[in-house]
Amino acid sequence: MSARRERILAEIGLGPRWRLRSRGAASDHATAANVASPVAELAAEQFAEAPDPQRSRGDASASLDLDDRAARIARMEFPELKRAVAECVACDLCKTRTNTVFGVGDERAQWLVVGEAPGAEEDARGEPFVGQAGRLLDSMLAAIGLRRAANVYIANVLKCRPPGNRNPEPYEVAQCSPHLVRQIELIQPLLILAMGRAAAQTLLNTEASIANLRGKLFRYQGVTTIVTYHPAYLLRNLPDKAKAWEDLCFARATMATLTVELARPH
Ligand code: URA
Repeated sequence: MSARRERILAEIGLGPRWRLRSRGAASDHATAANVASPVAELAAEQFAEAPDPQRSRGDASASLDLDDRAARIARMEFPELKRAVAECVACDLCKTRTNTVFGVGDERAQWLVVGEAPGAEEDARGEPFVGQAGRLLDSMLAAIGLRRAANVYIANVLKCRPPGNRNPEPYEVAQCSPHLVRQIELIQPLLILAMGRAAAQTLLNTEASIANLRGKLFRYQGVTTIVTYHPAYLLRNLPDKAKAWEDLCFARATMATLTVELARPH
């Protein structure tokens, strides 16, 4: 292991026990078996297809308006989508935000990280994950060779900060989801890393805990999706950093099989 990787792992809070092994050997976790074979060959039931996020919440009358708005958003290219988010007044979060937080990174990245919502620092700067949790996220990504300015895109379920960092309301998620849906369509990532309960439960339309969702492959909008802990949670729960590291290795090994699949002639 290089000195740089040693340092990165130490920053994440992972001691020497958690070393990278050979490519494809994700961890001692049982899920390593899942990624040994190409993802395309995994049994269909290993993928849980998440329902259409625009249809999964809200009452019937509101859903007509939402469908209409979602259809408009679904036709937008990046510049228009960014403008739409910057000008969005679809929920009350627009009244308390300083900046909208659209997302950051390579708009053709193979990796997409999805978090919950901007916090105070993100709201002030208009960029996702720039606070303490963001610094941990950057270290976690660096440990698997990813850098926000280069080869990963980072976005949130909500583009505006909920006051006091409270949990997103279902109505806010429903109003904001078309933006994320379109972002994903435009980016076309190979793999989504859903970080934290809010992101995972929103994307996968489930109430299941992170403990139940991690180590499995899901699909969201046809994109392979892996769930792991939120960096802010990891800052408070140090022992779970080791599990997050397993998840990152699982994701990295899954990405390796996905890129092999991509390169294979069909
Ligand atoms: N937490 C998130 O989920 N997203 C951010 O951008 C910052 C903190």
